[in-house]
Amino acid sequence: MNKDYYKVLGVDNSATEADIKKAYRKLAHQYHPDKKDGNESKFKEVSEAYSVLSNKEKRAQYDRFGKTFDGAGGGSPFGPGFDFRGFADGFEFGFDGRNHEDAGNMSDIFDAFFEGLGVKKRKTYKRGADLQFQQEITLEEAFTGIKKIIKYKTFIACKKCSGVGHFPDEGIKPCAACDGRGEIKEARNTFFGNFSQIKNCDKCHGTGQIPNKICKDCDGVGRITGGNEINVNIIPGIADGQMIKVPKAGEKGERGAESGDLYVAIRVKQSSAFHRVGDDLLVKKEINLVDVLLEKQMEIDSISGKKLSVKISSGANLKDKIVIAGEGMPKLGGYGRGNLLVDLDVRAPKKLSSKAKKLLEDLDQEIS
Ligand SMILES: [Zn+2]
Ligand SMILES: [Zn+2]
Repeated sequence: MNKDYYKVLGVDNSATEADIKKAYRKLAHQYHPDKKDGNESKFKEVSEAYSVLSNKEKRAQYDRFGKTFDGAGGGSPFGPGFDFRGFADGFEFGFDGRNHEDAGNMSDIFDAFFEGLGVKKRKTYKRGADLQFQQEITLEEAFTGIKKIIKYKTFIACKKCSGVGHFPDEGIKPCAACDGRGEIKEARNTFFGNFSQIKNCDKCHGTGQIPNKICKDCDGVGRITGGNEINVNIIPGIADGQMIKVPKAGEKGERGAESGDLYVAIRVKQSSAFHRVGDDLLVKKEINLVDVLLEKQMEIDSISGKKLSVKISSGANLKDKIVIAGEGMPKLGGYGRGNLLVDLDVRAPKKLSSKAKKLLEDLDQEIS
């Protein structure tokens, strides 16, 4: 049966090497035999197509003669040119097959296969978990910047054993379960043949060593529950929702492993006086119509506590906000400050005496 390798991978004849690789990886992932809805024969089929089309010479040969050269490979399920069971012998993680002519393509196929198995690089120690807290501050505190102390309960290093979980001075012996290697080889039978997979030894937690004296305070884990306290420096201009990372302030790791990080999510409370828009601050100012007409100086409180004096210039559109440059929030990571925008709320005089009314009528006469 002559299969069209291009069709198998869902690419056309002019596909580039990158297109072919991309198509293969997608399909290999989809059909992986270890997946619930995987398909072993499909997986083999796409791997076979890829082994030919990813090789320049084989692809040229295939383009010219089709699959007629088949058989030359001597019965390998993966088509001509290599017997991949021989190739797989002694395969281990970290295997470097560069001495083989098909190594490039084959390692792609192995990668696709083992990625699907969920094999991960072995890890000796368990890093502590990251933590997240929320810290509420006022807009004024966001303006000046502030230091906050956060107290919390977490895993901290066991003091008795300095976080190691045992006492190195008491000596250690090699782990019997893994012969001191820290890892265990596990044979796995797959359609590729037999593979050894390397796993972390559970008995010694991958260290290859069993301590003579385990710390009783922490049961050998190296960490206990305790209180922690950090000083968080909140910089001026911080915005609501921004996150501060405090490295290594999270949970202590197991058996001397490093700690996780701590993240502080900043919540900036709404202010009754100012409304923040990016680096700018918006303030509402109630003003009497007569004061506007008389171009009186207005006094405006800035967020820094400074009193600012502003005058409405004649002919101004009262709907426009008055911009006071550089009186907004500090710019994060930059220089200077945003602006203060004054939104005028112009009120008509409440009650006019007959004398006042007369004066206004005179004014009306005068200016119209
Ligand atoms: Zn301990
Ligand atoms: Zn072991």
